[in-house]
Amino acid sequence: MSDYLIVGGGTAGCLLAARLSENPDVTVELLEWGPPDQDEPRARSIRRWAEMLEGEYDLDYRSVPQERGNSAIRQARLRILGGCSTANTMIAWRPLAADLRDWDVAGWAPEDVLPYWDRLRIPIHPVAPEDRNPYVADVIASAATALGLPVQERWNDGRLDERAEGTGFFEVGYEPSTNVRGSTSIHYLHEVLDRPNLTVRTGVRVTRILIENGRAVGVSTTDGTFRASREVILCAGAIDSPRLLMLSGIGPRDVLAAAAVPLEIDLPGVGANLMDHAEGLILWEAVSRPPSTCASGWDAGAMLSVDGDPSRPDVLMHFPVEAWAVHASGYGVDLPEHVVQIAPNVARPRSRGRVWITSADPDVPPSIDYGYFTDPDGHDERMLIEGVLAARRIAEQEPFKSWLVREVFPGDRDLSEALRATHQTVYHVSGTCALGDVLDPQLRVRGVDGLRVVDASVLPVIPSVNPVVTVMVVAERAADLIASA
Ligand SMILES: Cc1cc2nc3c(=O)[nH]c(=O)nc-3n(C[C@H](O)[C@H](O)[C@H](O)COP(=O)(O)OP(=O)(O)OC[C@H]3O[C@@H](n4cnc5c(N)ncnc54)[C@H](O)[C@@H]3O)c2cc1C
Repeated sequence: MSDYLIVGGGTAGCLLAARLSENPDVTVELLEWGPPDQDEPRARSIRRWAEMLEGEYDLDYRSVPQERGNSAIRQARLRILGGCSTANTMIAWRPLAADLRDWDVAGWAPEDVLPYWDRLRIPIHPVAPEDRNPYVADVIASAATALGLPVQERWNDGRLDERAEGTGFFEVGYEPSTNVRGSTSIHYLHEVLDRPNLTVRTGVRVTRILIENGRAVGVSTTDGTFRASREVILCAGAIDSPRLLMLSGIGPRDVLAAAAVPLEIDLPGVGANLMDHAEGLILWEAVSRPPSTCASGWDAGAMLSVDGDPSRPDVLMHFPVEAWAVHASGYGVDLPEHVVQIAPNVARPRSRGRVWITSADPDVPPSIDYGYFTDPDGHDERMLIEGVLAARRIAEQEPFKSWLVREVFPGDRDLSEALRATHQTVYHVSGTCALGDVLDPQLRVRGVDGLRVVDASVLPVIPSVNPVVTVMVVAERAADLIASA
């Protein structure tokens, strides 16, 4: 038996295991469904992220048919040590103060959270000069002119709290000289694997949390039972943490009844409040293929306010080196030989979805309904369209303009219909075990002792920027909360 049992060795789980085991007087056990990452070369180089999608490590979740969005979304969730931090593009943002204020949870104000940014151990650097793609540099130059945006060299120095706008190469979680990614497995866990008080078990899938007399005491897994004397901590991510709670009888009463899972605690918020950044698509035929130089290939973009509050981005754009046009092909668009893209996403979505189980059998996939573009005032759809219109303005300016032959998509199609049918996910699912609702401000699951959640599911409101660093900052703070309990 260990003191702390951590379920899921992903972004948050690896960080937490390393931090909690710094105290030699406690024992920590980490259970990860997937394999180790040490002998997987694709897990080291950030440039190779896309090679790990839709393959042996990807849970590759599908959704139920979407009423107003794209029903063909494939939600990558990485089942390997490091989790999604092992195969993402690691665009890195210090959490924005305005985003944290939206959380409105005691103890999670900007002054409580931001000091943990300084503790992060992953490398975060501006995209190095040798990784800067000249084609992308041209898109940045045109974005600055077309949209009147400042070109940012350092995004994470606190200046965005005053004016959250700009364009440029991002700051990225990687080592420029080696292209080694900033995963939490590489930068937190690998170097402490020989600690005598830390046990890391890979290839172990947790199927249920064991609850006795109102207290979480351990877990059932594909490898038998594991018990914890102090706490069970779920770090299985925004789809699998609520799924595990529901499989264990903690969740909405009606969902559990329909799935024939005996009710332990009626917690309606489990699996609710699902948020994601929906990403619009605009494609052009290019005069030639851009060079391949890059850090990850999604190294730059723009942040803009559409509704007039410069401290809050409404649209976040990515300027990829290579277009990701699969949903356009699925929509019947003929793609020319050389195609380029700008990808603007809805930074502060108001639509909410949910994840739920339909069976007590852990092998039955979870049901996911993103609810994309279902917010009653049409904000999200409007931002999707505004983002694409802003991208068109960028395309009218030199030097980007000279790269382009013609707009291929959406062209003269109806913008609302075409963009909603072809949008992509930015893989930022979050919010399904929200702090302040499902969890108390100490990240403890309400109604049961000895059980916390620490991962992207705890974010009460999705950050307007890419969230991985926010997840790490939450995990750093969680380590303090747990150690001082
Ligand atoms: C392709 C891609 C690109 C992205 N790019 C960026 C980016 O550039 N910048 C950014 O900020 N964010 C990005 N993100 C999002 C970001 O990576 C995630 O928000 C973040 O990593 C989520 O961390 P987590 O700890 O919540 O979950 P994860 O990192 O997914 O960890 C969950 C872990 O739990 C394990 N697990 C699940 N169920 C079980 C179980 N039953 N038993 C045992 N283990 C289990 C999984 O195998 C996994 O290791 C990207 C994501 C993807 C997929």
